[in-house]
Amino acid sequence: MKEVVVSGIRPTGKLHLGNFFGAFKNFLTLQEQYDSYFFIADYHSLTTHPTPGDLKGSVKRVLAEYIALGLDPEKCTIYLQSDVPQTAELYLFLNMNAYLGELERVTSFKEKARTQPNNINAGLLTYPVLMAADILLHRGVKVPVGKDQEQHLEMSRTFANRFNRLYNCDFFPEPQAVSLGDNLVKVPGLTDSGKMSKSAGEADTIYLNEEASVLNKKIMRAVTDSGPAEAGAPRSSAVQNLFDLMALVSSPETIEFFDNQHKAGGIRYGDFKKQLATDMELFIAPLREKIDAMLGNEKLLDEIAAFGAEKARKNAQETMRQVRDIIGFSNKY
Ligand code: AMP
Repeated sequence: MKEVVVSGIRPTGKLHLGNFFGAFKNFLTLQEQYDSYFFIADYHSLTTHPTPGDLKGSVKRVLAEYIALGLDPEKCTIYLQSDVPQTAELYLFLNMNAYLGELERVTSFKEKARTQPNNINAGLLTYPVLMAADILLHRGVKVPVGKDQEQHLEMSRTFANRFNRLYNCDFFPEPQAVSLGDNLVKVPGLTDSGKMSKSAGEADTIYLNEEASVLNKKIMRAVTDSGPAEAGAPRSSAVQNLFDLMALVSSPETIEFFDNQHKAGGIRYGDFKKQLATDMELFIAPLREKIDAMLGNEKLLDEIAAFGAEKARKNAQETMRQVRDIIGFSNKY
Protein backbone atom coordinates (compact mmCIF):
# COMPACT_ATOMS: atom_id res chain seq x y z
CA MET A 1 0.00 0.00 0.00
CA LYS A 2 1.21 3.51 -0.82
CA GLU A 3 2.20 5.81 2.03
CA VAL A 4 -0.33 8.55 2.76
CA VAL A 5 0.48 12.24 2.28
CA VAL A 6 -1.77 14.91 3.84
CA SER A 7 -1.55 18.69 3.80
CA GLY A 8 -3.72 21.78 3.58
CA ILE A 9 -3.64 25.53 3.24
CA ARG A 10 -5.95 28.01 4.99
CA PRO A 11 -8.20 30.03 2.71
CA THR A 12 -7.34 33.48 4.03
CA GLY A 13 -7.48 35.37 0.75
CA LYS A 14 -5.18 34.00 -1.89
CA LEU A 15 -2.02 31.92 -2.03
CA HIS A 16 1.32 33.68 -1.71
CA LEU A 17 4.91 32.77 -2.48
CA GLY A 18 5.39 31.30 1.02
CA ASN A 19 2.49 28.89 0.48
CA PHE A 20 3.86 27.97 -2.93
CA PHE A 21 7.48 27.27 -2.08
CA GLY A 22 6.83 26.10 1.50
CA ALA A 23 4.05 23.67 0.68
CA PHE A 24 2.30 23.63 -2.69
CA LYS A 25 5.32 22.96 -4.89
CA ASN A 26 5.85 19.72 -2.98
CA PHE A 27 2.17 18.76 -3.38
CA LEU A 28 2.71 18.73 -7.13
CA THR A 29 5.50 16.20 -6.93
CA LEU A 30 4.02 14.08 -4.16
CA GLN A 31 0.67 13.58 -5.94
CA GLU A 32 2.56 11.55 -8.55
CA GLN A 33 3.88 8.96 -6.08
CA TYR A 34 1.70 8.77 -2.98
CA ASP A 35 -1.87 8.38 -1.83
CA SER A 36 -2.26 12.13 -1.33
CA TYR A 37 -4.95 14.21 0.38
CA PHE A 38 -4.78 17.98 -0.17
CA PHE A 39 -7.48 20.02 1.49
CA ILE A 40 -8.54 23.62 1.95
CA ALA A 41 -8.39 24.32 5.67
CA ASP A 42 -11.61 26.28 6.03
CA TYR A 43 -12.28 25.19 9.64
CA HIS A 44 -8.84 26.52 10.54
CA SER A 45 -9.57 29.88 8.98
CA LEU A 46 -12.43 30.54 11.46
CA THR A 47 -9.90 31.60 14.12
CA THR A 48 -9.74 34.91 12.24
CA HIS A 49 -13.57 35.30 12.03
CA PRO A 50 -14.09 35.77 8.27
CA THR A 51 -17.55 36.85 7.08
CA PRO A 52 -19.51 34.10 5.23
CA GLY A 53 -18.97 35.98 1.97
CA ASP A 54 -15.22 36.31 2.48
CA LEU A 55 -14.94 32.66 3.48
CA LYS A 56 -16.82 31.47 0.38
CA GLY A 57 -14.73 33.71 -1.89
CA SER A 58 -11.43 32.60 -0.35
CA VAL A 59 -12.30 28.92 -0.52
CA LYS A 60 -13.25 29.19 -4.17
CA ARG A 61 -10.10 31.10 -4.96
CA VAL A 62 -7.77 28.63 -3.25
CA LEU A 63 -9.52 25.71 -4.93
CA ALA A 64 -9.08 27.45 -8.28
CA GLU A 65 -5.41 28.02 -7.45
CA TYR A 66 -4.90 24.36 -6.48
CA ILE A 67 -6.29 23.22 -9.83
CA ALA A 68 -4.83 25.99 -12.00
CA LEU A 69 -1.36 25.33 -10.64
CA GLY A 70 -1.45 21.62 -11.30
CA LEU A 71 -3.16 19.52 -8.62
CA ASP A 72 -4.93 16.75 -10.49
CA PRO A 73 -8.15 15.31 -9.00
CA GLU A 74 -7.41 12.01 -10.74
CA LYS A 75 -4.03 11.72 -9.00
CA CYS A 76 -4.84 13.03 -5.52
CA THR A 77 -7.83 13.75 -3.31
CA ILE A 78 -8.69 17.46 -3.20
CA TYR A 79 -11.37 18.50 -0.72
CA LEU A 80 -12.71 21.18 1.59
CA GLN A 81 -12.05 20.39 5.24
CA SER A 82 -15.63 21.32 6.17
CA ASP A 83 -16.98 18.72 3.70
CA VAL A 84 -15.43 16.05 5.92
CA PRO A 85 -16.98 16.60 9.36
CA GLN A 86 -15.24 13.48 10.66
CA THR A 87 -12.32 15.91 11.05
CA ALA A 88 -14.27 17.70 13.79
CA GLU A 89 -15.10 14.45 15.54
CA LEU A 90 -11.47 13.34 15.66
CA TYR A 91 -10.51 16.84 16.83
CA LEU A 92 -12.93 16.44 19.73
CA PHE A 93 -11.47 13.07 20.73
CA LEU A 94 -7.87 14.30 20.48
CA ASN A 95 -8.73 17.41 22.51
CA MET A 96 -9.54 15.18 25.50
CA ASN A 97 -5.89 14.20 25.63
CA ALA A 98 -4.32 17.54 24.78
CA TYR A 99 -3.14 19.54 27.77
CA LEU A 100 -3.32 23.24 28.44
CA GLY A 101 0.36 23.52 29.41
CA GLU A 102 1.67 22.00 26.18
CA LEU A 103 -0.75 23.99 24.01
CA GLU A 104 0.17 27.27 25.70
CA ARG A 105 3.84 26.61 25.02
CA VAL A 106 3.40 26.42 21.21
CA THR A 107 5.33 29.27 19.60
CA SER A 108 2.65 30.19 17.06
CA PHE A 109 0.05 30.45 19.85
CA LYS A 110 2.30 32.67 21.95
CA GLU A 111 2.96 34.84 18.91
CA LYS A 112 -0.77 35.20 18.13
CA ALA A 113 -1.56 35.92 21.78
CA ARG A 114 0.99 38.73 21.62
CA THR A 115 -0.10 40.20 18.28
CA GLN A 116 -3.89 39.85 18.65
CA PRO A 117 -4.62 40.12 22.39
CA ASN A 118 -8.30 40.83 21.68
CA ASN A 119 -8.91 37.52 19.92
CA ILE A 120 -7.13 34.74 21.82
CA ASN A 121 -9.86 32.19 21.12
CA ALA A 122 -9.86 28.50 22.06
CA GLY A 123 -9.51 27.58 18.38
CA LEU A 124 -6.12 29.28 18.31
CA LEU A 125 -5.04 27.39 21.40
CA THR A 126 -6.14 24.04 19.98
CA TYR A 127 -4.95 24.75 16.42
CA PRO A 128 -2.29 22.00 16.63
CA VAL A 129 -4.99 19.53 17.69
CA LEU A 130 -7.13 20.30 14.64
CA MET A 131 -4.04 19.98 12.49
CA ALA A 132 -3.29 16.59 14.04
CA ALA A 133 -6.89 15.55 13.31
CA ASP A 134 -6.50 16.57 9.65
CA ILE A 135 -3.46 14.36 9.29
CA LEU A 136 -4.41 11.41 11.47
CA LEU A 137 -7.87 11.19 9.90
CA HIS A 138 -6.15 9.76 6.82
CA ARG A 139 -3.39 8.12 8.86
CA GLY A 140 -0.93 10.37 7.05
CA VAL A 141 2.80 9.82 7.42
CA LYS A 142 4.20 12.52 5.16
CA VAL A 143 3.15 16.13 5.56
CA PRO A 144 4.53 18.69 3.10
CA VAL A 145 4.69 21.99 5.01
CA GLY A 146 6.93 25.01 5.46
CA LYS A 147 9.37 25.46 8.31
CA ASP A 148 6.82 27.41 10.34
CA GLN A 149 4.86 24.16 10.84
CA GLU A 150 7.69 22.10 12.32
CA GLN A 151 6.53 22.45 15.90
CA HIS A 152 2.91 21.65 14.98
CA LEU A 153 4.06 18.41 13.39
CA GLU A 154 5.88 17.52 16.59
CA MET A 155 2.56 17.97 18.39
CA SER A 156 0.81 15.73 15.85
CA ARG A 157 3.32 13.00 16.67
CA THR A 158 2.72 13.55 20.38
CA PHE A 159 -1.07 13.21 19.96
CA ALA A 160 -0.74 10.13 17.73
CA ASN A 161 1.59 8.39 20.18
CA ARG A 162 -0.51 9.38 23.16
CA PHE A 163 -3.64 7.89 21.59
CA ASN A 164 -1.79 4.68 20.77
CA ARG A 165 -0.43 4.40 24.32
CA LEU A 166 -3.71 5.26 26.01
CA TYR A 167 -5.62 2.63 24.09
CA ASN A 168 -2.76 0.19 23.89
CA CYS A 169 -2.83 0.00 20.11
CA ASP A 170 -0.69 0.86 17.13
CA PHE A 171 -3.36 2.66 15.14
CA PHE A 172 -1.93 6.06 14.19
CA PRO A 173 1.43 6.26 12.43
CA GLU A 174 3.84 9.10 13.31
CA PRO A 175 3.50 11.89 10.74
CA GLN A 176 6.69 13.59 9.56
CA ALA A 177 7.06 17.02 7.96
CA VAL A 178 8.60 16.70 4.50
CA SER A 179 10.09 18.96 1.90
CA LEU A 180 11.56 17.62 -1.30
CA GLY A 181 14.60 19.84 -0.87
CA ASP A 182 16.81 18.88 2.07
CA ASN A 183 15.28 21.32 4.52
CA LEU A 184 11.85 22.71 5.30
CA VAL A 185 11.48 26.05 3.53
CA LYS A 186 10.94 29.49 5.02
CA VAL A 187 10.08 32.21 2.50
CA PRO A 188 10.76 35.67 3.94
CA GLY A 189 8.50 38.66 3.41
CA LEU A 190 9.38 42.04 1.94
CA THR A 191 9.18 44.05 5.15
CA ASP A 192 11.80 42.25 7.24
CA SER A 193 9.13 40.96 9.61
CA GLY A 194 10.14 37.28 9.46
CA LYS A 195 8.32 34.76 7.26
CA MET A 196 6.11 35.97 4.43
CA SER A 197 2.64 36.11 5.88
CA LYS A 198 -0.56 37.90 5.09
CA SER A 199 -0.89 38.92 8.70
CA ALA A 200 2.35 40.93 8.33
CA GLY A 201 0.44 43.14 5.87
CA GLU A 202 -0.07 43.60 2.14
CA ALA A 203 3.38 45.18 1.66
CA ASP A 204 5.02 42.01 3.01
CA THR A 205 3.33 39.53 0.70
CA ILE A 206 3.69 38.53 -2.95
CA TYR A 207 0.57 36.75 -4.20
CA LEU A 208 0.71 34.14 -6.93
CA ASN A 209 -1.53 36.22 -9.17
CA GLU A 210 -0.01 39.59 -8.34
CA GLU A 211 -0.53 42.19 -11.08
CA ALA A 212 2.77 43.24 -12.70
CA SER A 213 2.55 46.87 -11.61
CA VAL A 214 1.66 46.00 -7.99
CA LEU A 215 4.42 43.41 -7.89
CA ASN A 216 6.94 45.95 -9.12
CA LYS A 217 5.83 48.54 -6.54
CA LYS A 218 5.97 46.06 -3.67
CA ILE A 219 9.47 44.90 -4.53
CA MET A 220 10.83 48.38 -5.18
CA ARG A 221 9.51 49.41 -1.74
CA ALA A 222 10.94 46.34 0.02
CA VAL A 223 13.06 47.04 3.08
CA THR A 224 16.86 47.10 2.57
CA ASP A 225 19.71 48.92 4.33
CA SER A 226 19.81 52.69 4.18
CA GLY A 227 23.05 52.86 2.17
CA PRO A 228 25.21 50.43 0.20
CA ALA A 229 27.04 47.96 2.43
CA GLU A 230 30.77 48.39 2.95
CA ALA A 231 33.06 45.80 1.36
CA GLY A 232 33.02 42.57 3.36
CA ALA A 233 30.11 43.65 5.60
CA PRO A 234 27.67 40.84 6.45
CA ARG A 235 24.22 40.94 4.85
CA SER A 236 21.58 42.55 7.05
CA SER A 237 18.45 40.43 7.60
CA ALA A 238 16.40 42.64 5.23
CA VAL A 239 18.98 42.24 2.45
CA GLN A 240 19.33 38.53 3.14
CA ASN A 241 15.55 38.24 2.69
CA LEU A 242 15.81 39.70 -0.80
CA PHE A 243 18.66 37.36 -1.67
CA ASP A 244 16.49 34.48 -0.40
CA LEU A 245 13.65 35.59 -2.66
CA MET A 246 16.05 35.95 -5.55
CA ALA A 247 17.24 32.38 -4.97
CA LEU A 248 13.66 31.23 -5.70
CA VAL A 249 13.27 32.90 -9.08
CA SER A 250 16.57 34.17 -10.52
CA SER A 251 19.37 32.42 -12.36
CA PRO A 252 22.56 31.41 -10.50
CA GLU A 253 24.51 33.94 -12.61
CA THR A 254 22.25 36.80 -11.51
CA ILE A 255 22.55 35.83 -7.87
CA GLU A 256 26.33 35.54 -8.15
CA PHE A 257 26.53 38.94 -9.81
CA PHE A 258 24.75 40.73 -6.95
CA ASP A 259 26.48 38.63 -4.33
CA ASN A 260 29.85 39.75 -5.72
CA GLN A 261 28.69 43.36 -5.75
CA HIS A 262 27.59 43.08 -2.14
CA LYS A 263 30.87 41.48 -1.08
CA ALA A 264 32.91 44.13 -2.89
CA GLY A 265 30.79 46.93 -1.41
CA GLY A 266 28.84 49.40 -3.49
CA ILE A 267 25.82 47.24 -4.39
CA ARG A 268 23.01 49.51 -5.60
CA TYR A 269 19.85 48.26 -3.95
CA GLY A 270 17.68 50.00 -6.56
CA ASP A 271 19.26 47.89 -9.33
CA PHE A 272 19.16 44.78 -7.16
CA LYS A 273 15.42 45.19 -6.55
CA LYS A 274 14.74 46.04 -10.18
CA GLN A 275 16.31 42.74 -11.22
CA LEU A 276 14.37 40.87 -8.54
CA ALA A 277 11.12 42.50 -9.75
CA THR A 278 11.87 41.52 -13.36
CA ASP A 279 12.65 37.90 -12.48
CA MET A 280 9.69 37.66 -10.13
CA GLU A 281 7.33 38.92 -12.85
CA LEU A 282 8.70 36.28 -15.23
CA PHE A 283 7.91 33.65 -12.60
CA ILE A 284 4.48 35.02 -11.63
CA ALA A 285 3.08 35.91 -15.09
CA PRO A 286 2.20 32.35 -16.21
CA LEU A 287 0.76 31.51 -12.77
CA ARG A 288 -1.39 34.64 -12.85
CA GLU A 289 -2.77 33.73 -16.25
CA LYS A 290 -3.66 30.19 -15.23
CA ILE A 291 -5.29 31.28 -11.96
CA ASP A 292 -7.37 34.00 -13.62
CA ALA A 293 -8.57 31.57 -16.27
CA MET A 294 -9.58 28.93 -13.69
CA LEU A 295 -11.51 31.37 -11.47
CA GLY A 296 -14.29 31.66 -14.04
CA ASN A 297 -14.72 27.90 -14.16
CA GLU A 298 -17.25 27.59 -11.36
CA LYS A 299 -18.94 24.40 -12.58
CA LEU A 300 -15.69 22.49 -12.91
CA LEU A 301 -14.55 23.65 -9.46
CA ASP A 302 -17.83 22.45 -7.92
CA GLU A 303 -17.48 19.06 -9.58
CA ILE A 304 -13.91 18.67 -8.39
CA ALA A 305 -14.86 19.61 -4.81
CA ALA A 306 -17.76 17.14 -4.81
CA PHE A 307 -15.60 14.34 -6.23
CA GLY A 308 -12.85 14.97 -3.65
CA ALA A 309 -15.28 15.27 -0.73
CA GLU A 310 -16.70 11.85 -1.56
CA LYS A 311 -13.28 10.19 -1.65
CA ALA A 312 -12.03 11.92 1.51
CA ARG A 313 -15.22 11.13 3.47
CA LYS A 314 -15.03 7.48 2.56
CA ASN A 315 -11.54 7.19 3.97
CA ALA A 316 -12.41 9.34 7.00
CA GLN A 317 -15.49 7.24 7.80
CA GLU A 318 -13.42 4.10 7.88
CA THR A 319 -10.82 5.68 10.18
CA MET A 320 -13.50 6.97 12.53
CA ARG A 321 -15.30 3.62 12.63
CA GLN A 322 -12.10 2.09 13.92
CA VAL A 323 -11.29 4.99 16.26
CA ARG A 324 -14.75 4.77 17.88
CA ASP A 325 -14.28 1.06 18.29
CA ILE A 326 -10.86 1.51 19.91
CA ILE A 327 -12.17 4.17 22.31
CA GLY A 328 -15.09 1.97 23.32
CA PHE A 329 -18.13 3.64 21.80
CA SER A 330 -20.90 1.27 20.86
CA ASN A 331 -20.55 2.01 17.14
CA LYS A 332 -23.65 -0.09 16.43
CA TYR A 333 -26.39 2.31 15.44
P1 AMP B 1 -1.12 28.74 6.09
O1 AMP B 1 -1.23 29.86 5.12
O2 AMP B 1 -0.61 29.18 7.43
O3 AMP B 1 -2.34 27.89 6.14
O4 AMP B 1 0.05 27.82 5.55
C1 AMP B 1 -0.15 26.88 4.54
C2 AMP B 1 1.15 26.23 4.18
O5 AMP B 1 2.05 27.22 3.64
C3 AMP B 1 1.88 25.61 5.37
O6 AMP B 1 2.47 24.41 4.95
C4 AMP B 1 2.94 26.61 5.71
O7 AMP B 1 4.08 26.02 6.30
C5 AMP B 1 3.26 27.19 4.35
N1 AMP B 1 3.77 28.56 4.49
C6 AMP B 1 3.05 29.67 4.78
N2 AMP B 1 3.86 30.77 4.81
C7 AMP B 1 5.11 30.32 4.54
C8 AMP B 1 6.38 30.95 4.42
N3 AMP B 1 6.52 32.27 4.54
N4 AMP B 1 7.45 30.18 4.13
C9 AMP B 1 7.31 28.83 3.95
N5 AMP B 1 6.16 28.18 4.06
C10 AMP B 1 5.06 28.91 4.34
